[in-house]
Amino acid sequence: MKALKAILQLLFPEYCAVCKRAGSSICLECLSQEPPPECPRDEWIFSLHDYRRRTVRTAIHRLKYENRRGTSGVFAEALYGAILEELSELSLLENFSDPILAPVPISKARRKERGYNQSELISRDLERISNGFIKNGWGALEKTRETEHQARIYHRAERMANVTETFAAKNAEMIRGRNLVLVDDVTTTGATLAEARKILLAAGARRVIAFTVAH
Ligand SMILES: [Zn+2]
Repeated sequence: MKALKAILQLLFPEYCAVCKRAGSSICLECLSQEPPPECPRDEWIFSLHDYRRRTVRTAIHRLKYENRRGTSGVFAEALYGAILEELSELSLLENFSDPILAPVPISKARRKERGYNQSELISRDLERISNGFIKNGWGALEKTRETEHQARIYHRAERMANVTETFAAKNAEMIRGRNLVLVDDVTTTGATLAEARKILLAAGARRVIAFTVAH
């Protein structure tokens, strides 16, 4: 199945769903035309685009589930611009300097099945695009318990319960006293990010903010 998928992907390379340019499921130019989310999340979560938009949703879905990795770099480019903007403000106001990226982890089982974690791909591309200005703190977090897909759980309270104690901080010496930027593809209720942030703060992180492609 994996081999067949790989062959199909060679035969049908990724192209932008809007302008048909080759290389990714959506190109940076077309992504930048996509509207921001209607209602922003908590003040520490920054989301670039509205997940209800089909083009955005499809591009994320392809990156996440169909091994179409070309869009990771596009998302990273878009996030990098937003992160720089926010950091320039935060570094002045709150001494938020020298941050490390913490991609939201998936469980080992899911990673094995999928072969990669889309948030890690985006974080890695962010480090590359920033020329190492923003370091990718691989392994700041790990997922310790398998959870139901958040999208299948409707109520916020249930979602909160679902993510409780699913993350653990790794490399505490790396986290202590540092500013962290959580990176994920999508946030819905913010429950997953809130839980990840709580764990990082408990491990001694100085301040934690989050960036996602969509909400
Ligand atoms: Zn395009």
